[in-house]
Amino acid sequence: MDIELQKVSFAYAPGTPFEKRALFDVDLAIPSDSYQAIIGHTGSGKSTILQHLNALLKPTEGSVRIGDRTIHAGKKENDLRPVRQKVGIVFQFPEHQLFEETVLKDIIFGPMNFGVSEEEAINRAHTLIKLVGLPESVLEKSPFDLSGGQMRRVAIAGVLAMEPEVIVLDEPTAGLDPRGRTEIMELFYQLHRERHLTTILVTHSMEDAARYADRIAIMHEGHCVLTGTPEEIFSNAEELENYRLELPHVVHFQHELEQKIGRKLPKLCLTEEELAKTIAQLLREERDGQ
Ligand code: ADP
Repeated sequence: MDIELQKVSFAYAPGTPFEKRALFDVDLAIPSDSYQAIIGHTGSGKSTILQHLNALLKPTEGSVRIGDRTIHAGKKENDLRPVRQKVGIVFQFPEHQLFEETVLKDIIFGPMNFGVSEEEAINRAHTLIKLVGLPESVLEKSPFDLSGGQMRRVAIAGVLAMEPEVIVLDEPTAGLDPRGRTEIMELFYQLHRERHLTTILVTHSMEDAARYADRIAIMHEGHCVLTGTPEEIFSNAEELENYRLELPHVVHFQHELEQKIGRKLPKLCLTEEELAKTIAQLLREERDGQ
């Protein structure tokens, strides 16, 4: 399912002395099946955009189209439940929202609230708990007896149990160790590829954006200032510098290498594996050419 923000502006507490404009004229089209990263410093408006993606916030000006539903500024909306079911949000530290006595009850709460039968919700819970890498025995435990990483997986299973068509991830690996981080990011990438889940990742990590996303949007002080493929975005080091954003380490390394050897590699590599392959290919060509 696709989402399109058109000229979206948003102000918190509009018309009061505390009014704070957080978004200015944001245009952003997120096609079906894409993996969109949204990058920007703290305060640039990422969370505010994210809450527009399933109508938790409504634009002060402009419109947000979510599949076949359009949310217009200043118009009353009724029954936003179908939108909330189709766009699942994994908020930062989602484990803080667990509240039931057992993991099973926590996972089935969302779908049952949206009219799914108990039997079907329980079936989903059994499938999903394994998908997120936990044993089924966890279903009978209290979520509060689990480790932080396990709780996060349970919370993610709870969002997936709604069977959303779009999943929005707000810094989904914050606070996890490097291994946990990779596992969670790979899980979402697998879901994106195998189930064609449109994925929107809000992140500070240039590495994750470079590795997983096929489109990147850069937010700066409430404006969407750059959009493009990772190749386009990370070829533009000066522009990124204007927004005080870094290149991914691997791109830095490639630039240093190119300076050392006095020639450009045939393409910009976005992961260590890709760079290693490109260098190996270059060495092979040199050897064969001699
Ligand atoms: P990010 O997610 O990139 O850190 P946010 O969307 O949270 O950015 O914030 C954008 C701007 O809106 C910031 O200036 C922030 O201080 C302000 N802001 C965020 N939430 C609120 C709120 N509930 N009330 C008033 N201002 C807010």
